[in-house]
Amino acid sequence: MVSDKANKIGESPTLKVTAKAKAMKAEGIDVIDFSVGEPDFATPDNIKKAGIHAIEENFTKYTQNDGIPGLKQAIIKRLKEDQGLEYQPNEIIASSGAKSSLYHLIQALINDGDEVIIPSPYWVTYPHAVSLADGKSVIVPTKEENGFLLSPEELKAAITPATKALILNNPSNPTGAAYSRQALEALADIVLAEDIYVIADEIYEKLVYDDFRFSSFASLSEEIKKKTIVINGVSKAYSMTGWRIGYAAGPADVINGMAKIQSHSTSNPCSISQKASIEALNGPQYEVSKMVAEFQRRRNYALMRLQSIPDVSCHKPLGAFYLFPNFSSTFKKEYNNMTIRNSYGLAYFLLKEARVAIVPGDAFGLDDCIRISYATSMENLEKGLDRIIEAISKLKIAKKTKHISLNNTQTRVTTSVPVDPAISINIRDALVAEMEDMLSYANYFEWNANINGVVVQLRTNVSHLNDFWIENWYPAQLEADLEPHGIIYAVEGIPGREPRAFYNSETKTGILVNTDNYGPLRSLALGLVMDVSERLFSTYTLRGMSADIRGRGLVLIGPKGTKKSDLFYTLLLDEKFRLHANDILFIRFSGGKVIADSIERKLVMPTQASKFYPGLAPLFDNSKCENVVVRKENCQDPDCLRLDDCRLDRGSPFCYKASKKAVALLDPYWIDGPAKHVKRTELYWIFLLRFDSSSPPVVKMEKEDALRILESGESPGLRTSIGPLKNQPFYNPHLLLTTPERIQYQKNFFRELLENTDCYMINSGVATVDDIQNVIQQKTGPENGE
Ligand code: PMP
Repeated sequence: MVSDKANKIGESPTLKVTAKAKAMKAEGIDVIDFSVGEPDFATPDNIKKAGIHAIEENFTKYTQNDGIPGLKQAIIKRLKEDQGLEYQPNEIIASSGAKSSLYHLIQALINDGDEVIIPSPYWVTYPHAVSLADGKSVIVPTKEENGFLLSPEELKAAITPATKALILNNPSNPTGAAYSRQALEALADIVLAEDIYVIADEIYEKLVYDDFRFSSFASLSEEIKKKTIVINGVSKAYSMTGWRIGYAAGPADVINGMAKIQSHSTSNPCSISQKASIEALNGPQYEVSKMVAEFQRRRNYALMRLQSIPDVSCHKPLGAFYLFPNFSSTFKKEYNNMTIRNSYGLAYFLLKEARVAIVPGDAFGLDDCIRISYATSMENLEKGLDRIIEAISKLKIAKKTKHISLNNTQTRVTTSVPVDPAISINIRDALVAEMEDMLSYANYFEWNANINGVVVQLRTNVSHLNDFWIENWYPAQLEADLEPHGIIYAVEGIPGREPRAFYNSETKTGILVNTDNYGPLRSLALGLVMDVSERLFSTYTLRGMSADIRGRGLVLIGPKGTKKSDLFYTLLLDEKFRLHANDILFIRFSGGKVIADSIERKLVMPTQASKFYPGLAPLFDNSKCENVVVRKENCQDPDCLRLDDCRLDRGSPFCYKASKKAVALLDPYWIDGPAKHVKRTELYWIFLLRFDSSSPPVVKMEKEDALRILESGESPGLRTSIGPLKNQPFYNPHLLLTTPERIQYQKNFFRELLENTDCYMINSGVATVDDIQNVIQQKTGPENGE
């Protein structure tokens, strides 16, 4: 298991989108990549030559940890010439990229719980770097109408006694906003008054347009310089992203702290790159101005195109090479049945429909926007913007904006609970008194369910359980004198009690304590109903998944790990088969026939079923759900995780495949129309499942063998896809009492069942739906012959 830290942080979304665009290109798809965060120009020749020269001179060994003296001098010289700043070598550190300087700085500066103010939209790395140092990011949103600049008032309001630093990215990635000297001075007044540090990330310093004059935060005054750590590097200004050289300039004690941390993480930055960076900083600077002129031309063009899109606004950036347009007017619109809900959804749409890769604004803390990098050729800009504009024009206002009444309840308890199936009357009475005490008038729900003719009354203080209960079962007739056959208490909030279920058979009382999950309540109810109906009505239950084909029924019975659902739903995809029940069948014998009833009004359906039967997912949208996954961290679907293909990333508010614990209460008549579901069938075939790679796909079972398997759960060589099988009778997970009398009932039932049906053992490790079809045809004849 990886650490909480590693779990907590997400991979850089920019890298992810860029990787996706690259993978698409490798597949031959002509995708245009606006997600990149690096200049598309080659490193200037003089800089490359300096690198080659370093290799030729064998300058290929460890260097001083915090950078070679020559590089420090070059950094000092550049800061002096450009900003009039004076630094000593012990106030400078060179690192493996500005990202590395920033990481070491935050590690060196931030204690557990220290607050760091980050104006948003922000560069994605800042909050993660802070959280990796156990600091707390205080995100301060800036306004589009203020040009995404942090105002002194906003800064002041965010400062608390725990504030240690402000991260000021000037010019900004992703907005391109750049602070004038005057704007910086207003912030500096507050910084000094409140005595906080400023981490001034000035990596885009050289990339400024429209005669904007850049001022380093440290250059404002001698006092402010003592509170400022400038972060910069050669990546952006000299097209040297891959060379990995960044640096920090600041107070000696802070730089010394960084150096110690760096000495244990990366050691010195690449020796060759250090030499090349000396050339970059000391050598001729005209390549930079050529690049800036080209970026300005592209910015003007792209801005003009974006501003021409109806209902899209785009603030004019003064620096960096990104545009951050507001595309929120496209949200809730749809194309080909796909509704765009947020910037992730828009990014997905643009990738699919326009074949353009952009980064969703949400990654930078502002979901309304997307980030477009113009560090790409003019030709690509034209083509990509044409495509974006065309794709956006195809979006239609959703005819009916579907109200997502997911009704998804996340329960506190998510598993089954231990059951005491045979409590004494005295204990029952004491527990009931305890439960009744908790059921106040203000918070009490009561409802009589008719479960196969047995009336069960639920008394609960959990509204979610009441909701599910009412949906799950048909109502009992409303008659004043109707006495329920049994009562279930489901009560939460009992101090000092663990989640647990109790049952007393004499009084037909079920008690469920401190459990808000529906599974244990349904199970207890079914146990109670079986207890009543076997004796009173000679009706039995069978646990399995059943389908009907022209009036004849089949049931798949198998323990977990036999891929029962997979086989079942694949079978149902064939239109001849109709859904009968997905978990429990009530069975009685009538004139040599085995009558099987599906008795639930709405089926409790694991939402993972949509993996096998995709038509289910839209139906779940309109169903009451429990524990459906709404956050990617809770995803348990190995396929999605492996393919990095997450619905939630694409803006869907929920995922149905992601967790085994998620269920929906689904009206079975919704599935492909009312004709796809039957309430009653005559059972002809029993298919017991096993899962391995070697035994034959289908074996006809002798009655005695089948009986033994049903009664014990054992079968020679039985394996499952999830390891060894727990020896547990297949048929009765809801059976509460296992008294000898009860077991005898079950044995008699199975004997009679097997006398009147054909039983097969299916190895779902190798069998296909066709094997089941063949068995069925043996009895019913070829389809046409019937
Ligand atoms: N700061 C900002 C705002 C950036 O955008 C980037 C690169 N995307 C960096 C720092 C890191 O640059 P380097 O390549 O030097 O690590």
